[in-house]
Amino acid sequence: MKRIIIGNWKMNLTAKQSEILTNRLVENTERPSADIVLCPNFVQLANINMLLKAKPGNKFKLGVQNINNHDLGAFTGEVSAPMIKGLASYAIVGHSERRVNFGETDEMISKKVSACLRNKIIPILCVGENLHERQEGLAKRTVLDQLEEDLSEITSAESAKIVIAYEPVWAIGTGKTASPYDVEDMLEGIYRYLVNKYTEPRADKISLLYGGSINAENAKSFLDLNKSGGLLVGGASLNYKAFSSICQLG
Ligand code: PEP
Repeated sequence: MKRIIIGNWKMNLTAKQSEILTNRLVENTERPSADIVLCPNFVQLANINMLLKAKPGNKFKLGVQNINNHDLGAFTGEVSAPMIKGLASYAIVGHSERRVNFGETDEMISKKVSACLRNKIIPILCVGENLHERQEGLAKRTVLDQLEEDLSEITSAESAKIVIAYEPVWAIGTGKTASPYDVEDMLEGIYRYLVNKYTEPRADKISLLYGGSINAENAKSFLDLNKSGGLLVGGASLNYKAFSSICQLG
């Protein structure tokens, strides 16, 4: 299965800065074997989409950082899956910054996952424990509980169209990564859970990513892990040199 490397730009970059970064990434990332997905903010999405379309042969895809679970309606300030169709093919769902800062619950996240699937957008479902849960030995329990709820609205057949990113909350934007040993153990735990829930052939189709303070120096040690299907990169995806070299590893 092709690996996926995702760049989450979060709430950074003006229109001009987004263009410059995209141009530099395309120029410096030659024939990556992985699928590369850039996640700019909503306002830059159409522009970056146009810019990529004007660059023949590039393999970059686009995703959004969040999505509403409704397709339309009185939800001021929100963006729905039908609105991004044709512009983006992926949506990050349940990022810990959404869970922590915007009160997103697993129930809401499960509805967002199904909104993506009903609109043929691939959800990148983020799960991960906080520091307290890790210290209490509850990391795996927390992640599997999140998955149980977040995947509660999808069918077994739909499971082939999702991507799961394991992102320990304490490793996001902190410069601290989980140890490759712990990440491998978690990815294997998630895989076994998916085999049990959906069968082995279906679980094999679900890409499992790691995210949390990835940079150009540590990326390979996570990509090389058993069951690793790629990476979700935040801060380092804003630096074209760092992100291009991560993408070349894929
Ligand atoms: C993220 O935004 O999902 C992330 C992993 O951020 P960072 O790479 O900066 O830790």
